[in-house]
Amino acid sequence: MKNIVLFGPPGAGKGTQATLLKEKYNLIHISTGDVFRFNIKNETELGLLAKKYMDEGDLVPDEVTINMLKAEVEKNADANGFIFDGFPRTESQAEALDVFLTEKEAQINGMVALEVPEDLLVERLLERGKTSGRTDDTDEGKIRNRFNEYNTKTAILKDYYQAQGNYYGVNGVGSIEEITNRLAEVFDKL
Ligand code: ADP
Repeated sequence: MKNIVLFGPPGAGKGTQATLLKEKYNLIHISTGDVFRFNIKNETELGLLAKKYMDEGDLVPDEVTINMLKAEVEKNADANGFIFDGFPRTESQAEALDVFLTEKEAQINGMVALEVPEDLLVERLLERGKTSGRTDDTDEGKIRNRFNEYNTKTAILKDYYQAQGNYYGVNGVGSIEEITNRLAEVFDKL
């Protein structure tokens, strides 16, 4: 089983690349942001809860997110492996994921991180906001708050996976195809 955390700040291109790589490697792509948005659209209890955090660009509480992630993994019990996109985003989430996978006699094979300068990210998010219908992408203040959440809670996960010898940084600037090729070089080794 191959389990990969696709990592990077908001707007780094995780979703775009995961969609291409899941086909190539026959993995299940779990985007926590997409699962939350699906729940918001369908007005589920989880959606109602997540919405107030997401609208502000705040992280959804760990317990809620971790339970949701576990349920998504359980839905795909016979998968060949997973690409986790948008999870973990805090140290507690990373620890919970390790415990959960160990129980399943599995592990994270690597964190593959898309590295993109912040100026370019804001530009990409505002551009996406014009067509995506995502309210968290149309307001620069909300975007800044997401970076603040990323910098204070999520960026440290680089150290967490580096300590396990599992961190791989990839240059996330370039064409979609160039970046897919760079990521695939790392995926092939994992
Ligand atoms: P982006 O990477 O562009 O910020 P996502 O779709 O990954 O977009 O996430 C959108 C929002 O969903 C986040 O700002 C946050 O509110 C919520 N979210 C997604 N994943 C998590 C997570 N692992 N923990 C907490 N909140 C999350």
